[in-house]
Amino acid sequence: MNETVIPGIPDLGTRDDTITIYAGPCSVESVEQFDEVASCIHDLGLTWIRGGAFKPRTNPHSFQGLGEEALRIMHDAGQKYGLKTLTEVMDSAHCQMVADYVDGLQVGARNFQNFSLLKKIGQVTADSHQMVLYKRGFAGTIAEWLAATDYITACGNNNVVLCERGIRTFETATRFTLDIAAVPVIHKQSLFPVCIDVSHPAGQRDLVPSLAYAAIAAGADSIMIEVHPQPAKALSDGPQQLTPAQFEVLVAQLRDIAAVF
Ligand code: PEP
Ligand code: MN
Repeated sequence: MNETVIPGIPDLGTRDDTITIYAGPCSVESVEQFDEVASCIHDLGLTWIRGGAFKPRTNPHSFQGLGEEALRIMHDAGQKYGLKTLTEVMDSAHCQMVADYVDGLQVGARNFQNFSLLKKIGQVTADSHQMVLYKRGFAGTIAEWLAATDYITACGNNNVVLCERGIRTFETATRFTLDIAAVPVIHKQSLFPVCIDVSHPAGQRDLVPSLAYAAIAAGADSIMIEVHPQPAKALSDGPQQLTPAQFEVLVAQLRDIAAVF
């Protein structure tokens, strides 16, 4: 064993400077809105676009998402720009439909322990091996998270990305408290890649860059960032979304940081 290697410090020689970013609007709102973000992501040479079709809103009177229409918009934009698409599935009854339209399925924080949904997603993606981005619940421990991941992988799809998106603590200055230590802890305990969603813990766009720098430096395999052409008019999560121009600047910075780490 090389005595100079400190346990937990990544071997810099084996890392590369490419980073996976799941960027896109909180909600898919229209063809034009989604196209503008897709065009930006394509021009930056990124691979994935995210967008919400079924939204887990706290208040039933808030915008709930465009549903299947949003899935169609995502599918068409993915084809047009050669991007992979990622969206949240909230209901077991929708799993097959969602899997038919998009490349990756997201489990949101509010469905962290919806075991029947996790099982169904595992069944629906058993043959396709579509990526499942499984978010941590805001009151879930890492042990609970890793245990429940087996519901998804039970039928043979191991293509799971674990996404830390902030947990609830006594702190109210941010929307959620980002548990950055989840990255090395999960890397020690499992082989699953770790994504850090930097938008939902931030809650405000000016905090997003710092959380993204930290995520890359901590060794996250990917990050999620919400981007909207006109955040002030967004139907959900406006205050935390970056404009395409702001996103472009951040991606350049993150590529520089990733090359160092
Ligand atoms: C989202 O990604 O749009 C979302 C609702 O995230 P979370 O489940 O982490 O709140
Ligand atoms: Mn959101």
